[in-house]
Amino acid sequence: MSVAAAVIRPVVICGPSGTGKSTLLKKLFNEFPDTFGFSISHTTRAPRPGEQPGVAYHFTTREAFLDLARAGGFIEHAEFSGNLYGSSVAAVHAVTQSGKMCVLDIDTQGVKLIKANHAYLNPLYVFIAPPSLSSLKTRLVGRGTESEASMSARLAAAIGELEYAKSGAFDVVVVNDDLERAYNVLKGVVCEGKTTGDTLPDFSA
Ligand code: ADP
Ligand code: 5GP
Repeated sequence: MSVAAAVIRPVVICGPSGTGKSTLLKKLFNEFPDTFGFSISHTTRAPRPGEQPGVAYHFTTREAFLDLARAGGFIEHAEFSGNLYGSSVAAVHAVTQSGKMCVLDIDTQGVKLIKANHAYLNPLYVFIAPPSLSSLKTRLVGRGTESEASMSARLAAAIGELEYAKSGAFDVVVVNDDLERAYNVLKGVVCEGKTTGDTLPDFSA
């Protein structure tokens, strides 16, 4: 199955774990259910309370994931915080076939792989940034879903992800400080084609 038939520009959403990507996307899908469709990734991590299989993710075993990878079933896949995650060809195809704009929520490894191997998809790359590292940590702790080890791995990954964003890899940055404000910026970008978002904060300060 090919995804080359994609006619509507996909949107790639990326940002450190806990920055609020899922929260923002939930609002977008609720407000525009006929416009945007989510690329449901595969993952080997366990479902969090309330996460329905086939909605947030296709939850799978490592063995089944690797089988699908070997069969060429993923556009991109990566290991993050000890678990495998991947965007399947079928997931992206299902959204693009429905005529909706395909939204992918992936990490920076996935972004690099799409840029390297699937440039023809020509996605709009949007980086969701936290207002500060301390607020990122507060949100991750507040979500209450991660073990101490997972939290450390995610915060460590965040440093590299913020560095990558600094390199100018994204078309637009949205700082998720105030949720409603950030959502309005995101809407302006994905609904109205605005090309100006926020300025990436200086996280070294
Ligand atoms: P991600 O999908 O990026 O990992 P989530 O959407 O799960 O992040 O958000 C992580 C936590 O931060 C959640 O508990 C969520 O309710 C909270 N959150 C999201 N956006 C904001 C915001 N603008 N201000 C404060 N808390 C937020
Ligand atoms: P979480 O476990 O918090 O749902 O996701 C952890 C990280 O994996 C997030 O940065 C999220 O964007 C990323 N992620 C989710 N699905 C995919 C995917 O299909 N591919 C890649 N590369 N990353 C993904």
